[in-house]
Amino acid sequence: MGYSKKNKVVIIGSGPAGLTAAIYCARANLEPIVFEGFQAGGQLTMTTDVENFPGFPDGVMGPNLMDLLRKQAQKFGAKCIMKQIDKVDFETYPFKLETDNEIIETDSVIVSTGASAKLLGIKGEDEFVGRGLSTCATCDGFFYKDKSIHVIGGGDSAMEEAIFLTKFASKVTIVHRRDLLRASKIMVDRAKGNKKIDFLWNAEPIEFIGDKEKGVYAMAYKDTITKELTQVNTDGVFIAIGHNPNTNLFKDILNIDSNGYLITEDKSSRTNIKGVFASGDVQDSIYRQAITAAGSGCMAAIDAERFLEENHEL
Ligand code: NAP
Repeated sequence: MGYSKKNKVVIIGSGPAGLTAAIYCARANLEPIVFEGFQAGGQLTMTTDVENFPGFPDGVMGPNLMDLLRKQAQKFGAKCIMKQIDKVDFETYPFKLETDNEIIETDSVIVSTGASAKLLGIKGEDEFVGRGLSTCATCDGFFYKDKSIHVIGGGDSAMEEAIFLTKFASKVTIVHRRDLLRASKIMVDRAKGNKKIDFLWNAEPIEFIGDKEKGVYAMAYKDTITKELTQVNTDGVFIAIGHNPNTNLFKDILNIDSNGYLITEDKSSRTNIKGVFASGDVQDSIYRQAITAAGSGCMAAIDAERFLEENHEL
């Protein structure tokens, strides 16, 4: 099955939302094409144990879960392409999507581009990403065996990253800008109960300090109460302060809310453009879970099928 001909539905993104949409579209004979992007499988490929996805009483590793979802979609005929969509044209119909070397036509689009790790935007950050500074414990934790490291953030991601990193590091310090964690109670209890983890409260990072040879070796922060500036030594820093929805492609095309998320009509996956649907973290600033993303991918597939039927495209 090629995709140079006009397609019924193209799914942009291959996290739980995109692949669930693909399973439903494929089973509805819509022959979906999934543009997986450069990080196929989305954020779950950068996580370890997923313990809250229904159907896995013993948990499942994030990358394995994504493999299973992809296999399930492919089994019903979904075509997964490891390419990125660089440009969309929703003004003409069929819609046109552009990769680096081709233009794809499609009657409907499901946007499931997910979200990317937020950075702090402080001095030294750009310089040291990948050199003692990381946003992915699963990817880089292994490099910090018996090291003393810092994790920035106070939400579930920070707790999860910190707990995971204790498998390698000798000490993990969670750096939070307040003295109250945002994370869920179960994650807070686990982090606080871990002997290798301690906390640096009311600390706002202001600079990463390092050199070309060693990478980051210190972090400067401001005490948010006393305003005092302090520098701590570190063997590495993991930034876990949340994510930004990946909506660059749709700027000035699809409606976006004040936090940057795509806006969908109430109780549907419909965007402001008929035939373009959105699902997963790119349109969800509230729940942001793998299972809710999967559920909204299902909604988008059903909405796309109904749209195609109503427009006599099926
Ligand atoms: P989040 O809940 O938005 O938490 C982000 C944390 O980073 C907050 O504590 C925030 O501080 C801090 N932060 C944000 N910007 C900062 C900055 N510029 N400087 C310093 N600190 C900053 O994001 P998340 O932890 O990624 O979680 C997102 C969603 O995914 C949540 O719904 C969460 O429950 C879910 N999740 C669940 C699991 C799990 O259950 N295993 C794992 C990961 C994520 P403030 O608190 O002061 O705002």
